Amino acid sequence: MGKPTGFMEFERQDVPYGDASKRISHFNEFLEIVPEEHLRSQGARCMDCGVPFCQSDTGCPVDNLIPEWNDLVYNGRWREALDRLHKTNNFPEFTGRVCPAPCEGACVLGITSPPVTIKNIENAIIDRGFLEGWVTPTVPPTRTGKKIAVIGSGPAGLAAAAQLNSVGHYVKVFERDDRIGGLLMYGIPNMKLDKGTVQRRLDLLMAEGIEFQTNAHVGVNVNVADLRREFDVLLLACGATKPRDLPIPNRQLQGIHFAMDFLRKNTQSLLDSKLANGQYITAKDKRVIVIGGGDTGTDCIGTSIRHGCKSLVNFELMPKPPATRADDNPWPEWPRIFRVDYGHKEVATRFGKDPREFAIGSKEFLDDGKGNVAGIKTVRLEWVKEPNGRMIMKEVLGSEQVFDADLILLAMGFLGPEETVGQQIGLEFDPRSNFKAEYGQFATSIPGVFAAGDCRRGQSLVVWAINEGRAAAREIDRHLMGSTDLP
Ligand SMILES: Cc1cc2nc3c(=O)[nH]c(=O)nc-3n(C[C@H](O)[C@H](O)[C@H](O)COP(=O)(O)OP(=O)(O)OC[C@H]3O[C@@H](n4cnc5c(N)ncnc54)[C@H](O)[C@@H]3O)c2cc1C
Ligand code: SF4
Repeated sequence: MGKPTGFMEFERQDVPYGDASKRISHFNEFLEIVPEEHLRSQGARCMDCGVPFCQSDTGCPVDNLIPEWNDLVYNGRWREALDRLHKTNNFPEFTGRVCPAPCEGACVLGITSPPVTIKNIENAIIDRGFLEGWVTPTVPPTRTGKKIAVIGSGPAGLAAAAQLNSVGHYVKVFERDDRIGGLLMYGIPNMKLDKGTVQRRLDLLMAEGIEFQTNAHVGVNVNVADLRREFDVLLLACGATKPRDLPIPNRQLQGIHFAMDFLRKNTQSLLDSKLANGQYITAKDKRVIVIGGGDTGTDCIGTSIRHGCKSLVNFELMPKPPATRADDNPWPEWPRIFRVDYGHKEVATRFGKDPREFAIGSKEFLDDGKGNVAGIKTVRLEWVKEPNGRMIMKEVLGSEQVFDADLILLAMGFLGPEETVGQQIGLEFDPRSNFKAEYGQFATSIPGVFAAGDCRRGQSLVVWAINEGRAAAREIDRHLMGSTDLP
């Protein structure tokens, strides 16, 4: 159980990010390396509390065996910790870097003290595993002769492919982009998740026997009916890539972009040419407004500041969250509290002020007279409770304000998967326009076609995509073989 008195002896200490004033000059990963002693003392804080909520329904979505590996790390038994970690999570180097860590929100120590740094420990275990050369490809000893096509190479598709390949099925992953990885590659920027780290795992998956085809847009240049004939099962893991627009007056102006166009092109140019080819939307010397919070908004902030933007403002519809849990948000729920993410810290360091404007609505984009955006007209919002308990927003009279801008990035979430593939095979959609498939079964309305990840549940998290990929693999294996040993 770690050290029985560890939680009283040691304070929580996060693995720090590099100095904000320095890290904004490059796109290298910002997580620092800490001495082993740091990690062991943090592992010692785990109380092995009997009912580990951290790995329960409210905690880790892949049910990581957290108290077990906390104890092993405290005792310096890294190899065994790695084996435990890989039992539940195919890609701990991704979650260890980018997961918001619902496990920590559910940590029992968190009731009275800062929770255990679970995510940091997870990351340290897998990084140590790679450093020591313990993570090697495992090729299945026999093949079943069953063939599965996975459409989409994000974390859901990759986790499913890894699991299905491990029991001897032939798996081929089709990806429309020029690089594999979905949002791990072209969504989350390099400073948060180094693309060398993504490629290292992809190389392992290839060595294990999974085939990949890039520039393969199923439904466009790859015929979905051919895939159905050629493969025993299709798994749709296409993500939720349809962006929510902001249809207010003057939306057509130059200089207004969807967040993903901005982020995707930036990473592609970074990987192709270290940004030398200029094939990206630059924020250099521009007054930038990012509309929408969340990870996507923060990544637009972090990218803009690295380009050298002139100013940065971030609009958020919702009011500022409280500093501590509200009464209707008790432990072990995910704490809905005010947080300062890496991008907010970087703006505060560079410009002396947190970029966020809360409870603000966008009314109209403003024109510079030459077809370019010059600003945006806004109004402050008040959130009021209706008699039926529903919260609605009302505009505050006389609160109109104009913000100047040369670049506006729309990061307001996603509206489900693109329809092409679903429509071509006659799939049913759910009321939220996702591919319809019951969680736990993952079978769609078409026999032999399964769906997992964001295209099934809507835009979510990497850890949920891994959860769904693994669970869909289990159901596909059962469908093909009559029973399954997959976890
Ligand atoms: C900017 C951004 C930052 C994020 N940051 C975080 C974070 O820090 N932490 C976190 O936990 N989550 C984060 N998320 C959410 C997380 O990335 C997603 O929930 C996760 O990647 C979903 O995985 P997926 O495999 O379902 O889909 P995706 O990762 O979206 O992958 C789907 C893939 O399918 C491909 N595809 C689609 N249609 C076709 C087709 N017809 N043929 C072939 N290929 C196709 C797409 O090109 C894509 O590569 C972020 C999301 C965004 C947009
Ligand atoms: S995957 Fe996320 S929720 Fe699970 S242990 Fe890691 S950080 Fe926590």
